Amino acid sequence: AAAPSQYTVTLFPGDGIGPEIAESVKRIFNAADVPITWDTHIIDVHAAKPGEDLISKEALDSVRRNGFGLKGPMATPIGKGHRSLNLTLRKELGLYANVRPCVSIPGVDTLYHDVDVVTVRENTEGEYSGLEHVVFPGVVESLKVITRDASMRVCEYAFEYAIQNNRKRVTAVHKASVMKLSDGLFLECANEVAERHKDSGIEFQTLLIDNAASLLVSNPALLDVMVMPNLYGDIISDLCAGLIGGLGLTPSGNMGTGCMLAEAVHGTAPDIVGQNRANPTALLMSALMMLRHMQLRPQAQLIERSVYTVLQEGVVRTGDIGGTSTTTEYTDAIIRKMDQLR
Ligand code: NAD
Repeated sequence: AAAPSQYTVTLFPGDGIGPEIAESVKRIFNAADVPITWDTHIIDVHAAKPGEDLISKEALDSVRRNGFGLKGPMATPIGKGHRSLNLTLRKELGLYANVRPCVSIPGVDTLYHDVDVVTVRENTEGEYSGLEHVVFPGVVESLKVITRDASMRVCEYAFEYAIQNNRKRVTAVHKASVMKLSDGLFLECANEVAERHKDSGIEFQTLLIDNAASLLVSNPALLDVMVMPNLYGDIISDLCAGLIGGLGLTPSGNMGTGCMLAEAVHGTAPDIVGQNRANPTALLMSALMMLRHMQLRPQAQLIERSVYTVLQEGVVRTGDIGGTSTTTEYTDAIIRKMDQLR
């Protein structure tokens, strides 16, 4: 079917610097003529009564209906008995895979200059099953749950992503040498999915998690798309963010059943809120992942090239990456650059 010409996207600006960086994304998308209407939902975490879900049914229905959502950072209220925000979103929207592309950004000084990796993390089970108990004082058991359904689904998505985004290889990361049954099942599923895609031109490889960690810090250029169980993905995706300059620059997308929720992975930055100093790059790059998913690649390409050029020129930069510019100045610079590159 042809892609629709106009999209509605659910927007959760979030707390802290969230509204400031969301405004920046909206201005840039507007200037790039991206055919999106925003359906904005303000989640007031402080207004929610104890025991209540933080995200309303109406807001969740909006994402389900639109198929796309963009989420800014949200403060997590501590000790009020709410179901965690991320847990609610994950469960209600069936967010089964977290995808984090990490690409070296020209002009942003880091130890590595040739990073171009994508972490696809299983997002629903593994060590995050929440099943822990005290056997007797001093001894605790925690259950790691791996299912065939979730493993097949996330590996299938990794291949789909690799094909759609012209990647060369998918690497399944595991520790089946020790966790023979659980990671063994994950690996078996990865092999099965790879077999199904053997004519796709995508290479397949398996790698122990410890070897993957070592390779990522010695020669990250050797890795491409990586798919792995939940906990490994949690750690490796942050490691990859570190390779390219930190969480302020890395996009993230959550794939759900019939929907996608793009989000910045950093927090609400309470120390700089309201000062027009926040870096909107991570939220913007997450929104670009969403555009590519909508097949709005030309717009995504133009915006991305403009961001990279502005960062490479190094004149207009926010404080977190060594500059002195405001969020507004940085946003203006990207918009001006788009006009030049168009
Ligand atoms: P944080 O990411 O908010 O801040 C850590 C440091 O990074 C701060 O110095 C901050 O100024 C800086 N920083 C983060 N994002 C930035 C940006 N875009 N531009 C410039 N600087 C940036 O982490 P924290 O202080 O541990 O958490 C603060 C709040 O955010 C907490 O309530 C936490 O629960 C919440 N949080 C939410 C999410 C989310 O919604 N996904 C993720 C992490 C933390």
